[in-house]
Amino acid sequence: MIDVLVVGGGISGLAFAWKAATAGRQVVLLESSPRVGGCIYSHSSKDGFWFEMGAHTVYNSYGGFLEMGNATGACETLVQRGPARSQFGLLRDGAVAWLTPPKVLLHLGWLEAAARFPFNVFRSKEGQTVASHFSRLLGPKNFAQILSPFFAAVPSQSADLFPAAGPGSLFKKRPRRKEIPRSFGFHGGLQTVCTATSKVTHLSVHTDSAAMTVARNSDGWQVRTHDGRVYSAPLLAIATPASVTPALVDGALPGLANAIRKVETVAVESVGVVLPRDRCWMPECAFVVPTDDLFFSMVTRDPFPDPDRRAFTFHFRPGISREKKRKRIVEVLRLRHEDLPSTLENAVTLPSATVDHAHKVAEIEKHIPDSLALVGNYFEGLAIEDCVGRAFAEWNRVGSTVPLLED
Ligand SMILES: Cc1cc2nc3c(=O)[nH]c(=O)nc-3n(C[C@H](O)[C@H](O)[C@H](O)COP(=O)(O)OP(=O)(O)OC[C@H]3O[C@@H](n4cnc5c(N)ncnc54)[C@H](O)[C@@H]3O)c2cc1C
Repeated sequence: MIDVLVVGGGISGLAFAWKAATAGRQVVLLESSPRVGGCIYSHSSKDGFWFEMGAHTVYNSYGGFLEMGNATGACETLVQRGPARSQFGLLRDGAVAWLTPPKVLLHLGWLEAAARFPFNVFRSKEGQTVASHFSRLLGPKNFAQILSPFFAAVPSQSADLFPAAGPGSLFKKRPRRKEIPRSFGFHGGLQTVCTATSKVTHLSVHTDSAAMTVARNSDGWQVRTHDGRVYSAPLLAIATPASVTPALVDGALPGLANAIRKVETVAVESVGVVLPRDRCWMPECAFVVPTDDLFFSMVTRDPFPDPDRRAFTFHFRPGISREKKRKRIVEVLRLRHEDLPSTLENAVTLPSATVDHAHKVAEIEKHIPDSLALVGNYFEGLAIEDCVGRAFAEWNRVGSTVPLLED
């Protein structure tokens, strides 16, 4: 018998499943792809060389994520990021300026910033977009030329119209765990935490199992998968992306489906390439951010250096042909076309929060019934810790609806 059924095996679904399983419930998680992790995707070759195709950086302020890592044993493989973590490139007009966090400030137009900063520094971010808030603070030219490309690298899309504060914003203050390095990784990549979580007691993960429909019955919920299997449970958690969830719940909860549809989403198309170290011209760095290019960022594995190989993952705008992507990779990495090895490709969708995101979330919340948990990166924000926080809060809200048999 299943107590809790979870659909979607990214960090949101795994965090919810982990909470339910550690509270003694029998949990089944359905994941459409062959692996868990979703946007967390550490690709590993047969000899163990790994690199991040998706999310890459976690911080000591990610308390919930660290709690999962500790409890599942993943934190035993925690590794500190090396010096390349604080080197990055700004690619403009074919040239890369190599920067460290304080050097970025030297690229600001100081006259423009000084004319605005003192008058706006204490003004509220409420109701402001990222563009309006930072343009007011440092000037529109500084925002467009320096800040906008760096902010776009975070959600792999323009962040100009994201809210500057509240649900959906990129900026959150969370308490730091000082005994852990400020930013860190895991041997094998962030995927290590997802894989370890998928193996906890009371949790059974079914990969290659795409949920197609969700229905309600007198005992709770029924989920039908692409191959005709039917799963039933009194409590259901839906942890699929905002681009997928409306179609899943439309039959059972049309109001909820319509509310989620109001959240805009974009595709992120990532291409990863591994090169022998002696073929790389680029100094070691954490990432390169271009101004106005086919890609939003190129993230490296250099903070976890390997003696022989380096890896580069380009996060492209959607809809660009494979040939154009490869041509741009060859240019940035300064390779001959015939020297570009085979690449790895992945596509996901992310929400595009807008300044009224809090209203959209409130509307969604109104339509969630008591025996359904709805988790994902379209509530608090898209950071891994936002997803974990939402999953934990949802478990606290609905967990008691499936009492332990011995209760
Ligand atoms: C390129 C990139 C870089 C990022 N970098 C960072 C970073 O450095 N730090 C950070 O904190 N955050 C980062 N993020 C954001 C963060 O990784 C994501 O917001 C978060 O991992 C999303 O988790 P999720 O579980 O909500 O969704 P997802 O990861 O999208 O998981 C949803 C899961 O549902 C599955 N699914 C879909 N349809 C079905 C179905 N019908 N049936 C069953 N399963 C289904 C999918 O296969 C997927 O596994 C990054 C995101 C991207 C794309």
